[in-house]
Amino acid sequence: MLTEKLQSVVCIIGAGPAGSSTSIFLSKLGIHHIIIDAASFPRNKVCGDGLDMKSIRMLNQIDPNIFQNEILSNPNFTPCNGVRLIHPSGKNRDYVIDRKLAKPHYHPFYVSKRMDFDHFLVKKIDKAYANLLTETKAKSIEKTTEGWKIIAENRNGELEINCKLLVGADGDHSLLLRHLGERKIDRKHYAGSVRQYFKGVGDMHPDNLLEFYFPKKYPFSYFWIFPLPNGEANVGYIMVSKYASEKNYNIRKIFTELITTDPILKQRFANATPTGEVEGWGLPLSSLQRKAYGDGWLLVGDAASVVSPSNGEGIGNAMMSGCIAAEFIAKAIKLDNFEEGTFKNYQRELYRPLKEEIDRYNKYIDKKPEWSNWLINNLIMDNFVTQKLYKKFMQKWMETAYEKRIKVIVD
Ligand SMILES: Cc1cc2nc3c(=O)[nH]c(=O)nc-3n(C[C@H](O)[C@H](O)[C@H](O)COP(=O)(O)OP(=O)(O)OC[C@H]3O[C@@H](n4cnc5c(N)ncnc54)[C@H](O)[C@@H]3O)c2cc1C
Repeated sequence: MLTEKLQSVVCIIGAGPAGSSTSIFLSKLGIHHIIIDAASFPRNKVCGDGLDMKSIRMLNQIDPNIFQNEILSNPNFTPCNGVRLIHPSGKNRDYVIDRKLAKPHYHPFYVSKRMDFDHFLVKKIDKAYANLLTETKAKSIEKTTEGWKIIAENRNGELEINCKLLVGADGDHSLLLRHLGERKIDRKHYAGSVRQYFKGVGDMHPDNLLEFYFPKKYPFSYFWIFPLPNGEANVGYIMVSKYASEKNYNIRKIFTELITTDPILKQRFANATPTGEVEGWGLPLSSLQRKAYGDGWLLVGDAASVVSPSNGEGIGNAMMSGCIAAEFIAKAIKLDNFEEGTFKNYQRELYRPLKEEIDRYNKYIDKKPEWSNWLINNLIMDNFVTQKLYKKFMQKWMETAYEKRIKVIVD
């Protein structure tokens, strides 16, 4: 039964990092909109929970004081000072930033459970401009002469939303993407992944390093251990779907096998206890561009396929896509033109920051797969020069993340 009819120029489906960021940046531009999400926040999302420097940069762009005022002292965020590569020889390679050179609140990474992080972002949605409806699931969408009609469902019944511009921020299984007939999976540009929470993983580094292990046996895949507050860790495994399907690999089985039988990892997990189930989800990699705009619509985040192909990070990219989309929406409203041509350069801006890593991935993905993890393990050496170089890069990336706003060119 239809209980309510709502109208707005812009409607966003999904309030994950992509949808929340779109909303936050639209509000900063003074644009009223509706944003709906099927979930009630805080809600779980299968993820590694790692916040990379793109996420840090976007958080700073939301509020330059957010780290000093809200994040550093927040028990739901673990500040991390670098990266550890767990080497198959058993000799770890640690890349830790020099704290003497970094400002107190500058950390290259953070880890925060998505249950907490997504809720943190949702609370930043500005109710003065956004009509946020949670526990409201979009069931169907239909193109109309005026724009779009969305039928959603919540505890009160059915709801009709009419808008001129629809933003698909509803993740990998996006309803808008399916409506457009564009949810196609190319396994070379898609990854399968699982994660589980643990308590008591042994030998965690005091600097809270993000740990990566590249098993020799399984190409184009890695295992991770990311530190969380209260002695917990997010532990997971990711593999490019092409290799999983060609070799008939079962990612869940490999994950368990690594923890229980791998000579390096099994010692770390000898006294560890799971605090949740093994959960899996897919990652649409940006190495295959998806058309992210059209007549009266834009895609952001996983729906737009903007996950980094080299490491599977998608939170920062999703937030960045929201920031870029907001600028194009402002342009469309100013011109009162929601046709495809208005958004043409959105595609360019969306993929511009990812170009280098996309090119690198596409160059190597078809090369001898059995070499991929061998190369990573052997080329990244633990010597004075590589340590110094990496620290220097991290220092530079941090300065960009904490000090430079991203520029969006709408014309
Ligand atoms: C195992 C795994 C590990 C990962 N690790 C990392 C990591 O460590 N760091 C990193 O940066 N990235 C990581 N990623 C990628 C990251 O999780 C995604 O890229 C990110 O969540 C994308 O955000 P999003 O807002 O586009 O989509 P989502 O986070 O999926 O949000 C989509 C939202 O849309 C809502 N929704 C869906 N359908 C509807 C509907 N019909 N109506 C209303 N609402 C709807 C959902 O409830 C949800 O809240 C990982 C992914 C996986 C699977």
